[in-house]
Amino acid sequence: MGLTFLDLLFPKRCVSCGAIGKYICDRCFSKIEFVEKAICPICQRQAIGGKTHPKCSGRFRLDGLVVACRYKSPIKLAIQKVKYKWVYDIEKVLVNLLASQIWKFNLPQNSILVPVPLHPKRKNWRGFNQAEILAKTLAKKFGVGYSDSLIRIIETKTQVGLTKDERKKNVGGAFAFNKKVAKKYIEGRNFILVDDVYTSGATMMEAAKVLKRLGAKTTWGLAVALG
Ligand SMILES: [Zn+2]
Ligand SMILES: [Zn+2]
Repeated sequence: MGLTFLDLLFPKRCVSCGAIGKYICDRCFSKIEFVEKAICPICQRQAIGGKTHPKCSGRFRLDGLVVACRYKSPIKLAIQKVKYKWVYDIEKVLVNLLASQIWKFNLPQNSILVPVPLHPKRKNWRGFNQAEILAKTLAKKFGVGYSDSLIRIIETKTQVGLTKDERKKNVGGAFAFNKKVAKKYIEGRNFILVDDVYTSGATMMEAAKVLKRLGAKTTWGLAVALG
């Protein structure tokens, strides 16, 4: 990894302490709290390979979950910077972090990455969807499929500060199938929904429902951090 023209113009600074050189300096990197043991997306208790416990599973639920670390600094700061695109190429830091942890999870083979979509209004306002950037970067890194299979049809309010039940209600019916994608590409296939942070799982669970109803074989969730 040599220096690029952009690195010369905009030297990388640690998102946490400001040290020049990397987006997360070695000292701050050592403070990252990795999720030591994979967890079930439903009850969030330890689960082998991140697979949903049989007693937690359901036809329209997530089949498993990949999360790399806790939603704390410096990762929290890095995720926020991806969200507002304050710095160039920072998503690669998060994708590399996920790549370093992926061995802990029993992901189904030939999975297709699907970003959790933003409502078009919010996407226009922000200019991009951070989940889409992460999913595309991951797909490229792992050489796996990518698809915009979902759209957000309801502009939901932020989930921050809501209880688990309120979150579920807030995102109810928020997603639909993207008609630009052929339905035949959903049936019998394995999907991984991608987002930056996984908290109660309400959003991903709602998105998973749409794919499952169309006949998806499995739908996993993947997020950089566990909130
Ligand atoms: Zn630092
Ligand atoms: Zn469980």
